[in-house]
Amino acid sequence: MNASLFRLIYISRNEISGDEATLNREIDQILASSRVKNPIENITGALMFNAGCFAQVLEGSHNEIQNTFERIQCDPRHSHVVVLAFEPTSERSFSNWSMAYFGTNSNAAAKFGDIANKAGFDPSLLEGDRIFDLLKEHLIEAESASHRKQ
Ligand code: FAD
Repeated sequence: MNASLFRLIYISRNEISGDEATLNREIDQILASSRVKNPIENITGALMFNAGCFAQVLEGSHNEIQNTFERIQCDPRHSHVVVLAFEPTSERSFSNWSMAYFGTNSNAAAKFGDIANKAGFDPSLLEGDRIFDLLKEHLIEAESASHRKQ
């Protein structure tokens, strides 16, 4: 186990208002700044959006995750940020991705939408492991389909 490597998983509520184009533009901006800033902090991970909720996995050292997450938590584009897990991990699951993204038209986000709707945003019903497994499983599918690295 790499003692210095951690994984944080959280969910939050979308606060971006406006039409789909506005939402897509804001999410593109979030991904653009993630893909600039995360490599500087040696952070990898994945972001998912559906049913008015975000779910994100951040991987990196304890301090670097804290620095990045403090910035993310202050962002007015989401609210009700709930940490589902912050724990040591043996390896990165998103090592090729400064921030992979699963939007509403992805299978992963469709399943996340079902989970979020059923749980009614009750954090005790939203398990970090389930969200993490969903992202990992669908990332493997996406990577083997496209061999895309970002
Ligand atoms: P600046 O760009 O200088 O912005 C200053 C403040 O304005 C910040 O509080 C910022 O949050 C806010 N802000 C910036 N743009 C907008 C906007 N269009 N509308 C409203 N407020 C705005 N950043 C990462 O580096 N890595 C990530 O993995 C990451 N994931 C994110 C996931 C989600 C769900 C969200 C909502 C944001 C995420 N961000 C991420 C973006 C992050 O919150 C910061 O906006 C970004 O890192 C820029 O930070 P900054 O301190 O340079 O702020």
